[in-house]
Amino acid sequence: MEPDWEGPLGEAYARAMTYLEGLPERPVGAWATADELRAKLGGRLPEVPVDPVQTISQLADAVEGGLVATGSARFFGFVIGGATPASLAADWLATVWDQNAGLYAAAPAAAVVEEIAAGWLVELFGLPAQTSVGFVTGGQMANFTGLAAARYDVLRKAGWDVEADGLIGAPRVRVLVGAERHGTVDRALRFLGLGTRCIVPVAVDGQGRMRPDALERELGQGPTIVCAQAGNVNTGAIDPLDEICELAGDAWVHVDGAFGLWSAVGTPINGLAKADSWATDAHKWLNVPYDSGLVFCAHPAAHRAAMGVRASYLIHDEDQRDPLDYNPEFSRRARGIAVYAAIRALGRQGIVELVDRCCAMAQRFAARLNEYEVLNDVVLNQVLVRFGDDDLTKRVVKAVQQEGTAWMSGTTWQGRAAMRISVSNWTTAEADVDRSVEAIRRCVEIEQARSTQG
Ligand SMILES: *Cc1c(COP(=O)(O)O)cnc(C)c1O
Repeated sequence: MEPDWEGPLGEAYARAMTYLEGLPERPVGAWATADELRAKLGGRLPEVPVDPVQTISQLADAVEGGLVATGSARFFGFVIGGATPASLAADWLATVWDQNAGLYAAAPAAAVVEEIAAGWLVELFGLPAQTSVGFVTGGQMANFTGLAAARYDVLRKAGWDVEADGLIGAPRVRVLVGAERHGTVDRALRFLGLGTRCIVPVAVDGQGRMRPDALERELGQGPTIVCAQAGNVNTGAIDPLDEICELAGDAWVHVDGAFGLWSAVGTPINGLAKADSWATDAHKWLNVPYDSGLVFCAHPAAHRAAMGVRASYLIHDEDQRDPLDYNPEFSRRARGIAVYAAIRALGRQGIVELVDRCCAMAQRFAARLNEYEVLNDVVLNQVLVRFGDDDLTKRVVKAVQQEGTAWMSGTTWQGRAAMRISVSNWTTAEADVDRSVEAIRRCVEIEQARSTQG
């Protein structure tokens, strides 16, 4: 059969351009209801073929109202970030090339692209030179992989081979982690069979940073993992890593730096390189399309012991890096290609500027919203704003989401409702912040008026 690439890819290109060029003015939130989406997308199971061009154009029409413009300069929800043109284009090509990036033998270019990007990343973050890298789906799997290497290593030191013998009968592993950790840490520990009861919560300060004095009290004997954080999801605060690593001694220190790690490119984080493993996301602050997480391990042998795999039918070239030795996946897309292109196109300078600009925009938000209550020290790209009380704050968050100029989510910080503003898009400029602040003010006024009427 003669394939027609031109038709569907041409349609996809045209749709992509309409979408991307429309980002500055389209409502940031979705407007279709779930029922509307189901009505447009649903129907009986297709029994007969449909023309591919029509398939693509119908799909694009049907999802339109259900798309959240996460690539918009005024999307400030969840530290999501957009995509830079180079990373997006490279991601398209990665899909076109359709490489199985598990093995060097099956995908030499993909393996070498990742090897090169890995080296650049280690240098950008200032990690130890021998650090191994895995290109995983996101922060969740980066935490999982880093903690898997940790589990292997702390148990090995206790005389237990977890990879062979599993956890039944193994010495108990304690995981000391800040009370303000990200939920993916708990989930990774569940996946690893350690369970959430292995967690020893460590007290945090007013910004959510792990307190070294509290850590010191909890450190004990036996296999221990300390899980620190660079970039609290609410406040953006970074744990005192230098003190944590010093206190931890023989314990394995894993750093969840899903977005905060990127700040280390321009402003070194004291003690960062003393940790044993690190997790971050390329799909957040580096503005690479989903899915793209990164795990780093200062002990490649532990990384490989936890993840590596050999099978009779696989071809391993001992001189080459097989990506599957560093990933929980076996077959997978060559997601490192977009990371490579992002770094190449931005350069170190561009990454520093991108991060600094986002932080400056967060400062601008905090300054312009200071007639309300800013709950956190704005040290990075996160701003928590409260409007009077919990009820008004929640209503304002909802009203802003529906109004369409901007989109931010809500959170609860130390028992109080807040609007959570995360600036992580490479295109966000001062005018976007100002327009968003105006939208917030209008929503506050409307909601306040409704309160006094009600
Ligand atoms: C986003 C985030 C994660 C999870 O990352 P995913 O890419 O969503 O899997 C973990 N930790 C922190 C601190 C985060 O901000």
